[in-house]
Amino acid sequence: MPQSLEGLAKRIRACTLCRLHEGRTHAVPGEGRRGSGLFLLGEGPGRHEDEQGRPFVGQAGKVLDSALRKAGISRDDVFITNIVKCRPPDNRRPKADEVAACRPYLAAQIRIVRPKVIVTLGDAAIKGLLGPGGGLAWARRGSPRYDGIPILATYHPAAALYNRRLASVLEADLERASKLVSGRPRVGGGRPRPSKPSKQALSSGCAVFDAEGRVLLIRRADEGLWGLPKGTVERGETLEETALREVREETGLDVRIVSPLMEVRYEFYSAVDDTNVEKRVVYFLAERTGGRLQLERGFEDARWSTGSDAIRLLHYENDRSVVRRAFAAIATPSGKMRGRGRGARR
Ligand code: SF4
Repeated sequence: MPQSLEGLAKRIRACTLCRLHEGRTHAVPGEGRRGSGLFLLGEGPGRHEDEQGRPFVGQAGKVLDSALRKAGISRDDVFITNIVKCRPPDNRRPKADEVAACRPYLAAQIRIVRPKVIVTLGDAAIKGLLGPGGGLAWARRGSPRYDGIPILATYHPAAALYNRRLASVLEADLERASKLVSGRPRVGGGRPRPSKPSKQALSSGCAVFDAEGRVLLIRRADEGLWGLPKGTVERGETLEETALREVREETGLDVRIVSPLMEVRYEFYSAVDDTNVEKRVVYFLAERTGGRLQLERGFEDARWSTGSDAIRLLHYENDRSVVRRAFAAIATPSGKMRGRGRGARR
């Protein structure tokens, strides 16, 4: 397989590995540069793409261009291609053997571009990349990766053509992808810097369970990462008071603390005040007692999750450790939830 994008494009234009070459006017290898942070992946070329030999130049391309513009992304800064490089007749979905025949080209493109984020556009794109087992809905619930590269699965621009809601989701997803690419440092996310002074910080939070024995995860809007409700201990507050307040503020829920759970420690560089922060977070096991799930500004989603779902969704190992400990705790007699089986209001 060629080791350059140009070499690959040349090979693709002459390819006859599957039946799709028979009806094509032009193969459409894709556009973009090595090192592009964002890799956009569609399903296959349509009529306009086939005529011009370029990806996303028809109506769907206009929607994509508009969404990229609104997300502050220049088309010059992304690599755009499709699962199959030749147009399927009548714009039908590519067949499994066609996807398989074309996959080595895609794998080589990703290997050469080495993007920071892959954005799949539509159900066929995510299935073409990861296999038929997981579709768009599945991918949007989780945090899939390809060869270690995070995947953001969103809707195909053609689906957003006449659907304003999907168009908004597409724009928001591209904006999120852009933030992931730019690597905007999380307030708590940068590596400690040896030359910087240190300060200590204390937070507390909860692993909150519902009556069905599921734990509550919340997703931050800026990073798109799942975590547990928690926050900084304010002057005069006990750890328990902070945990209850933070859960209430971030989720709208009232909870009862069942027992202490565990403490995690980590260190990070904070760009906000240019210091390394030695952080200590104390977690409690808690059960929901009331309130209505209503996310604070800054959070975009919440999910009651089983143990395996939570482990799959959570980004940080610290959070996964807390959730493992929490599920172990509720399995013991002292960790039994008063409300379990009682049908607490959702
Ligand atoms: S779709 Fe891919 S595998 Fe099939 S002929 Fe075109 S380039 Fe070759």
